[in-house]
Parts: sequence; structure tokens; C-alpha cells
Amino acid sequence: LIQLDNLSKRYGGHTVLDSIDLEVMSGEVVAIIGPSGSGKSTLLRCINYLEPPDGGFVTIGDITLSAAMPASSTELARLRRSVGMVFQSFNLFPHMTVLRNISLAQERVLGRSRKEAEERSMQLLKRVGLGDKAGQYPARCSGGQQQRVAIARSLALDPQVMLFDEPTSALDPELGLEVLAVMRELAETGMTMIVVTHEMSFAENVSDTVMIMADGRIVEKGPSTEVMRNPQHERTKRFLRAVH
Ligand code: ATP
Ligand code: MG
Repeated sequence: LIQLDNLSKRYGGHTVLDSIDLEVMSGEVVAIIGPSGSGKSTLLRCINYLEPPDGGFVTIGDITLSAAMPASSTELARLRRSVGMVFQSFNLFPHMTVLRNISLAQERVLGRSRKEAEERSMQLLKRVGLGDKAGQYPARCSGGQQQRVAIARSLALDPQVMLFDEPTSALDPELGLEVLAVMRELAETGMTMIVVTHEMSFAENVSDTVMIMADGRIVEKGPSTEVMRNPQHERTKRFLRAVH
């Protein structure tokens, strides 16, 4: 479903992504771990073209964009619509209710009627365990609740793929667990997910594949249990020793 070929990104003279090749199957959950500055966030932002890559190809489903050619706005819109993204900071609109936060883009982007959008939003709120929060403003919700609203908001646009960039690292551990539970359920429903995380239990128990990044490269990638329990590369061993 996702294919990256030779993906590269530089900032100034500094190579942040160095010829990344990656294939992610439909329904696969990939955890990306690695030290700070290794290019994890940049990789996610290149996948949905929030950052245009400098080299290589990004394929999502039937859309392929090449860094060598400027992407048309139609192609970009299609790509971004198929990819949902959840960040460390939840970025909800503070002056809108939880329900409105989720329904607005459905009306603007997908052209759903307000009624349709609100019905879909309510379904998703129930799914993330927040059926009773529709009329609440974000400031009255805990961080974990806000992050679950942000997940519902992404899902409301029916993406083919969900990208998560350290979705729990701004949260107290307990609130992080609520969010991880929602992500685990999402994984179980067959959503294709790429998750940058420091949660080793998520990497080991929920993801199918673990990929370790360092210095803009994929150091190691394989079935999660193998990589976590029996890492092959010295760089991976060092990283896992440091975080455990
Ligand atoms: P962290 O674990 O701290 O979030 P990361 O693996 O997500 O790190 P990135 O944010 O992808 O790392 O950054 C990779 C490198 O690219 C870093 O050296 C960073 O300083 C650099 N970088 C990222 N964004 C920009 C930018 N907009 N302009 C210049 N350099 C950038
Ligand atoms: Mg990052």
C-alpha cells in the first residue's frame, strides 16, 4: 500500500533522509524507533508531502509522486486525503466543540452535509471512548482525551493510512495508555499504520514490524518480536539498551 523508493531529504548541506526504501503492506503496523534527530519525523512528513522530498518516489495506493517533478495540486490533495496524521501536540481548534472539530473537515474536504458529518463524528467519538464529550470544548478535556479526539478527526476523512508522530510523548503515562489502547484497536481493525514511538511495549506487542532509524537511514527492520528481542545490528542493540 505504501512504497518509498530512494527517498531523500536534505536541509542545507545536511542529509536528513538518505535513500530510504520502504514497503508497507495493507493492514501492516510499522513502529519506527531511533534516536533524536535520526529523521523519523521528517520521514513521516515526506510521506504525506508536508515536506517535499529532494529525491525518490512516494507511492500510496495508486498515487505515485516523484521528487523530480512538481506535484500537481490535485495529486497532492489526493495523497494527503489518503493519509491521516496525528502529531505529538493535538492541534484541536480551541474555539470549537469536540464534535465540530471532527465534523468541520468532513464538510469542507469531503463535501458531507452537516448531518452526515456529525453522525460520522459521533460514531468515531464512541469508538475512541468519548461519546459523552461531543459538546465539550478541548480545554475541558484531558490531554489523552484531546489526543483521542485528534485521532477521531483524522479517521473522519477515511484515510487509507494513518501516520502517528510520538502521539503519547506529551502525555502522562496513564493518559498515554488510553491513547495506546485506541491505537491498538485501530490496528486490530486492519488500519495501515506507521507509528513513530518511544513506547517499546507498543513496538513489541502491537506493531507487526519494527524499523530502527539512525542518521537518516534504516539500520534494521523486521518482525517486531525478532527485532526487539534479538536485534542484529550493534546500533540497534545500543539504542535498545539505552531505552530499556
Ligand atoms: P526526535 O526524536 O527528536 O523527534 P527525529 O528523528 O524526528 O527526532 P527529525 O525531526 O526528522 O528527527 O530531524 C532530523 C534532522 O533534520 C535533525 O538534524 C533536524 O535538526 C533536521 N531538521 C528537521 N527539520 C528541519 C527543518 N525544517 N530545517 C532544517 N533542519 C531540519
Ligand atoms: Mg521527531
